[in-house]
Amino acid sequence: MIPAAFDYVRASSLTQAIELLRDNPDGAKLVAGGHTLLPALKLRLAAPELLIDIRSVAEIKGIEIGETHVKIGALTTHSELSASEPLNNVFPIFRETARLLADPQVRNRGTIGGSLANADPAADWPAVVLALGAQLEIVGATGRRTVPAEDFFLDIFTTTLAPDEILASIQIPKPKTGTRYAYRKIRHPASGFAVVGVAIAVRMLDGVVDEASIGITGATNHAFVGKEAAEFLTGKALTRDNIDEAARMLSENTECLSDRYAPAEYRANLVRVELGRALLELSQ
Ligand SMILES: Cc1cc2nc3c(=O)[nH]c(=O)nc-3n(C[C@H](O)[C@H](O)[C@H](O)COP(=O)(O)OP(=O)(O)OC[C@H]3O[C@@H](n4cnc5c(N)ncnc54)[C@H](O)[C@@H]3O)c2cc1C
Repeated sequence: MIPAAFDYVRASSLTQAIELLRDNPDGAKLVAGGHTLLPALKLRLAAPELLIDIRSVAEIKGIEIGETHVKIGALTTHSELSASEPLNNVFPIFRETARLLADPQVRNRGTIGGSLANADPAADWPAVVLALGAQLEIVGATGRRTVPAEDFFLDIFTTTLAPDEILASIQIPKPKTGTRYAYRKIRHPASGFAVVGVAIAVRMLDGVVDEASIGITGATNHAFVGKEAAEFLTGKALTRDNIDEAARMLSENTECLSDRYAPAEYRANLVRVELGRALLELSQ
């Protein structure tokens, strides 16, 4: 449980962190909250030559509520997401999700940027940023780019981030009036991660779904958008039959992961049940 030797630099700006990464793209690793990376170092699953600590990089901290968008700095901790009244007045799903994530120690140190960049298939925030239609701002040696959350997660622990890039912020369009949210998850009894997690944003107009968006985590190699089920619901009332059909559709179209705790059939059933429960919550 002792990491291999590494050098350590505490970066004071985004530019400095990027330069350090650019000079050593294969041997350097960023550390934010450290709650995923440090266990990996201790188990020697990772052995970087250089750790670049980005916790002091002010440019990627904080929550801004703008006219059209909400911007969340990558270094914002799970606890800060839960505690922010301005954020939760717009998107109460952040508090709802954070309270289901890990324990207070992890929530106080772990960051949303670290969670998204790490792309654990069972992490909670990926489902939420997908349901909210977020754009992820990425900065690297060659400049700045913005990627829709939907295109960010590629595979298990794999994203579109290049080795010399840093996830800087999460930018979310402000919702139309009347949009409501739900996040539900079945916690793994040992780790607390999502065996299956479902995030939903739904806007009702004149008794029918005007817009719906669904993000799923835990079920497959990476979090994904439940497009077909959302499209099915659009223009329909949230009746028991419509909810059941959307949940069945999502479950049947998802090729679920299998492991010793949860075989694929069980996960597929959880996708159906959890989406059904979340939609039922929102129908009341
Ligand atoms: C006991 C325990 C229980 C947990 N339970 C849950 C849970 O229920 N649900 C859940 O979702 N998560 C859970 N986690 C994970 C936790 O949320 C971590 O905090 C999170 O996954 C990683 O965030 P971090 O800031 O600690 O990242 P770090 O550990 O510092 O970094 C993780 C990875 O991301 C990279 N990275 C970090 N920041 C950036 C950035 N801005 N740009 C590019 N790359 C970056 C690092 O180089 C590293 O590869 C748990 C962790 C522990 C230890």
